[in-house]
Amino acid sequence: MKKISEEVISRLNSIVGSGNVLTTQEDMEPYSHDELPTLKFMPDVVVKPRTSKEIAGIMKLANELEISVTPRGLGTGLSGGALPIHGGIVISLERMNEILEIDEANMVAVIEPGVIVGDLNKAVEEQGLFYPPDPASLDSCSIGGNIAHNAGGARAVKYGITRNYVLGLEVVLPTGEIIRHGGKFVKNVSGYNLTQYFIGSEGTLGIVTKIILKLVPLPQYSVDLLVPFNDFHQAAEVVTKIMGEKRIIPVVLEFMDKAGVQACETFLGRELPFSNAEAQLIIGLDGNDKDELDKLIEVIGEICFENDAEDVLVADSKFAKDSLWEARRILLETLKAISDQVEVEDVVVPRSRIPDLISMTTRLSEEYGLPIVNWGHAGDGNVHVAILKKDIDENTWNEKFEGLVQAIFDGVVEMGGTITGEHGVGYLKKKYLPKVVGETEIALMKKIKNALDPKNILNPEKIF
Ligand SMILES: Cc1cc2nc3c(=O)[nH]c(=O)nc-3n(C[C@H](O)[C@H](O)[C@H](O)COP(=O)(O)OP(=O)(O)OC[C@H]3O[C@@H](n4cnc5c(N)ncnc54)[C@H](O)[C@@H]3O)c2cc1C
Repeated sequence: MKKISEEVISRLNSIVGSGNVLTTQEDMEPYSHDELPTLKFMPDVVVKPRTSKEIAGIMKLANELEISVTPRGLGTGLSGGALPIHGGIVISLERMNEILEIDEANMVAVIEPGVIVGDLNKAVEEQGLFYPPDPASLDSCSIGGNIAHNAGGARAVKYGITRNYVLGLEVVLPTGEIIRHGGKFVKNVSGYNLTQYFIGSEGTLGIVTKIILKLVPLPQYSVDLLVPFNDFHQAAEVVTKIMGEKRIIPVVLEFMDKAGVQACETFLGRELPFSNAEAQLIIGLDGNDKDELDKLIEVIGEICFENDAEDVLVADSKFAKDSLWEARRILLETLKAISDQVEVEDVVVPRSRIPDLISMTTRLSEEYGLPIVNWGHAGDGNVHVAILKKDIDENTWNEKFEGLVQAIFDGVVEMGGTITGEHGVGYLKKKYLPKVVGETEIALMKKIKNALDPKNILNPEKIF
């Protein structure tokens, strides 16, 4: 890949305006990393376009000169997807941050990719509408990043993931052409579903510049339950009974282990409820019929107590809900505060195998001598396994860490799971992809990439 010359900078200036081209090390530093603690790659130049036409101009220039281009949302990624591995141009979508339309009649929103997800949530809720995907980073990540990673969140159990809400996209292809696909409708079988191709493609097939999202009615009532257990297997049994036996689909079904809750307690410097419990479940329910919701709480409460829950705390006000979610929300921040290096694996197993996964990570943590904290989405089998370096010396860490990750991934695959459910493959996990995707399938993915990006200039070194 070619380096950037003064002439290229001047052509970029004329496309986006000189105020939107960054070239000093100091200005570009924030664009050299995401939320991963260890990886850093400096871009040669950062550009902040305002329109898809400007992005098309940048891509045409990059194609002509074979310069690599890395799209970037708001940099909260956890797999190195937005890192410019070969330097080159970083295109930051931060200025394309307008909610263009909330169309109540058709229950859709038309938005630009740089919109912060939490801002979209609030804007549609003001109209009595609901955009359910809720990654824990929603107050700091962009919808474009969510589309690139097909982000999930706690509400995925009932409402699904980003992919389920995208009706149409405008995309700038690596060659600089602009395509539009889909519209303000759910049904569409006119040719290949190009919209879905780009979702989860991690910014390697095109740059998303406009999005049409499906909205649903905002449920009138919601309630959250916090349920502590002294035996992790009892908590897992409750999950199976609620969903598998009673066929109740909660909005959220999250869990945290004791190590996680106790770390938050130390971080906050005050007691948290039931911090001695081996596991805590957070169960969220919603609906439009208050009596129906009360009945569900009763049924779930019975199941919990039959399985030796210590208590069932019910929160239906914002204040009560916020305090119930406190530990879960600050967990990653807490872990980063107690350990200068935290590596979070984002594995998925069939829901019923979560207890096996936790037993496995507990055993491996002892075997490798590296502390592990588990938490995540019990309702959909997506578990975050955080490996903490703490004060372990560099040599031991380097010696042990890779083996531990390999062992976790191998175990997950054996359980019928996969290596990433939300955070994406990016740069960090590409060497593990062959564990879960076959040779022929990877070859097909490469053919798709090559068809769209024959010069391999858009976000190279990602996924495979
Ligand atoms: C505390 C914390 C909690 C998190 N919780 C969750 C969670 O619950 N669920 C979850 O799914 N993720 C979670 N994440 C990960 C991260 O927030 C998501 O992956 C998010 O989607 C990234 O969005 P971003 O705007 O920050 O994208 P970036 O990090 O800037 O980029 C991510 C990827 O998207 C590509 N990209 C960005 N914008 C575009 C565009 N317009 N067109 C094409 N490609 C683009 C980039 O090239 C890169 O590959 C969490 C992260 C943190 C730090």
